[in-house]
Amino acid sequence: MGSKKGKIFYIVIGVVLIILINYFVFPSIFGDKVEEVSYDVFLDQLEKKNIENVEVDGEYITYTLKTKPQKQIQKAPSLFSFNLFASDESADVYKTGYMDDPDLVKKLSDSGAKFSKVQPEEMPLILSLFLSYGIPIIIMIVFWKFLTRQMGKGGFGGNAMSFGKSNAKVYVKAQSGKTFADVAGQDEAKEALTEIVDFLHNPKKYAAIGATLPKGALLVGPPGTGKTLLAQAVAGEANVPFFSISGSEFVEMFVGMGAAKVRDLFKQANEKAPCIVFIDEIDTIGKKRDSGHISGGNDEREQTLNQLLTEMDGFDGKKGVVILAATNRPDSLDKALLRPGRFDRRIPVELPDLRGREAILQVHAKKVNIANGVNFKAIANATSGASGAELANIINEAALRAVRMGRIEVQQCDLEESVEVILAGYQRKGMVISDKEKEIIAYHEVGHALVAAMQKHSAPVHKITIIPRTSGALGYTMQVEEDEKFLMSKEEAFNKIVTLTAGRAAEKLMFSTITSGASNDIEQATKIARAMITRYGMSEEFGMVAFETLNNAYLGDDTTLVCSNETAAKIDREVIGLVSKAYTKAEDILKNNMQKLNSISRYLIEKETITGDEFMDLLQ
Ligand code: ADP
Ligand code: MG
Ligand code: ZN
Repeated sequence: MGSKKGKIFYIVIGVVLIILINYFVFPSIFGDKVEEVSYDVFLDQLEKKNIENVEVDGEYITYTLKTKPQKQIQKAPSLFSFNLFASDESADVYKTGYMDDPDLVKKLSDSGAKFSKVQPEEMPLILSLFLSYGIPIIIMIVFWKFLTRQMGKGGFGGNAMSFGKSNAKVYVKAQSGKTFADVAGQDEAKEALTEIVDFLHNPKKYAAIGATLPKGALLVGPPGTGKTLLAQAVAGEANVPFFSISGSEFVEMFVGMGAAKVRDLFKQANEKAPCIVFIDEIDTIGKKRDSGHISGGNDEREQTLNQLLTEMDGFDGKKGVVILAATNRPDSLDKALLRPGRFDRRIPVELPDLRGREAILQVHAKKVNIANGVNFKAIANATSGASGAELANIINEAALRAVRMGRIEVQQCDLEESVEVILAGYQRKGMVISDKEKEIIAYHEVGHALVAAMQKHSAPVHKITIIPRTSGALGYTMQVEEDEKFLMSKEEAFNKIVTLTAGRAAEKLMFSTITSGASNDIEQATKIARAMITRYGMSEEFGMVAFETLNNAYLGDDTTLVCSNETAAKIDREVIGLVSKAYTKAEDILKNNMQKLNSISRYLIEKETITGDEFMDLLQ
């Protein structure tokens, strides 16, 4: 039942009910005004010969008067009538209980009234059946409808009763509130989406030349780069209905629900065209169908996916329904989804570059009270590889820190500290570290910094600290590239490993012992060395052969190794060789700079934190 029709239905039922109830409870408002009186009042009127007409049935005596009394003499209070319809007007008809009065006929004829006996009024059978059964049934139906409707709204335990209605929310401009101005950087993505917005506004322009727009566009990129934000901005810009649903919302608790939801979503979209349908996290339903036949839940997902494919083929692209979807695992999507006629246009939403990061910081800085002359470029520089979401978080952390410090505006130092919070966690001021350990940590960090500074292809040191962080780091050395780098040369990769091994090398040289503090360095060094050999073609032994492939370009370095067992063993040996070569180099550099290692480490133990500039001064 459509919702409009449904409403009318309820209104009609309600009105009929009220009329019926009123008819039987308050007959007075429909016919003559009836007043119940006591028998002595009747006899009194009879004596006064004031009665005009009398009707007698088995139960009541009903009579009318020749002249009405000015005021009501007595009124039998009825539970329903006395408040609602009470009035001072006297009644047309009077009614009293029938008494077994043998003289009644004589009294009546004496008074000169007309009188007759009538059959008591019988209710028609149908009406009485209706009253005793119909009304309760109708009331039950209405109540049940009301109840299920409440359940559909999620009032009672979620969607169990909503039977496959999609939860797609319709956004219109005012509600989404986001525009392209809220999205910093991402110019290519905005351009591609602007075309779609333009198509929805001026379809004729495209039709005139015979161009059809792609039915679907897929936003792909790492998490937090603004895919969802972009889609919301499109909704704000396009000024057409915007249906938004997340992939996981399709996966429901009942089998077949997902498919039903897809059907319902597209039905709604077709009715509202031109409009935009946005499916967030489409990988939840769009995974390759052949992957894993084990679990039963797979069938359900396949059905949902098949329904989506069918619907996408089924509707007319010219009608103006554009489907946007977003994912950070495009590699796992079913090929059928990506073929022409479906999501054939890919819109990459990459991690922001230096300029992009600065722009994102500025967009979010507008929301907080920021001090004059804050250098966003420096912050952007220090956050290479950060996503838009992380940058937004940095601004917010900085604002929180400013409040904690009792300031009313955000300053550069707040931003710098919050960068470190995002990178390494909060400072652990309460942590007690013994002097001996503090010494080891300081030499370890200065080892990194010194080796980094002594190598040509290495990023400048930005900060050294031995204040522990909540991430578990007991100290760290921050290096920041001067310019944004998109390539990494073999030398740079190797120098990175050298710098990473330098912490352990410094410990060994100074204290003739080694600690677990280098575990993270070791992990990273191994990763780089492995990638150089198996993915970057940077080993003499193997040359340009890829043994490992990235499973997902956007989600970390989760890889699959494909090679023979002998090759795997050889790769391991190569990795070991490369890392130990790097370690030797780090050791050599430190041996040649023992004095500096000592003096800077002493200084660090005292100060706990030194900046890049201070470090360079000490070095010279
Ligand atoms: P995704 O969907 O790609 O994982 P979101 O769109 O949910 O990422 O982004 C999360 C948040 O990060 C946004 O709400 C916004 O505050 C911020 N953000 C991400 N990218 C940008 C950007 N390019 N400009 C401004 N803010 C951004
Ligand atoms: Mg998202
Ligand atoms: Zn280290």
